[in-house]
Amino acid sequence: MPCIKCRRKLEEGQVFCSSCLEGMEAYPVKPGTPIQLPPRLPELPQKNRRKKQRERKPEVEIRRLRSSIRWLTLALVIVLLAFVLMSTFVLLLLREQGVTPPL
Ligand SMILES: [Zn+2]
Repeated sequence: MPCIKCRRKLEEGQVFCSSCLEGMEAYPVKPGTPIQLPPRLPELPQKNRRKKQRERKPEVEIRRLRSSIRWLTLALVIVLLAFVLMSTFVLLLLREQGVTPPL
């Protein structure tokens, strides 16, 4: 049975999990106060829940990896362009001063 408040998995017979109970202790209710609990939602079958998590995680991972590959490619292109520009600039400077590069 899941916790009514946060849907975390609980042992049989419990209504709220320990972290939700801790949060509720900050707002104590007088003994005898009628409390209406929300209806328990039907628990999803374990197989479906696991399947969904398995299907979702790789997709998110692939999306993350693709975006990081895009950024790394962009950074590589920028670095290569900077290298080409710098070497061209150095070669032009050397030629201007009459030095022949050893190529
Ligand atoms: Zn809870």
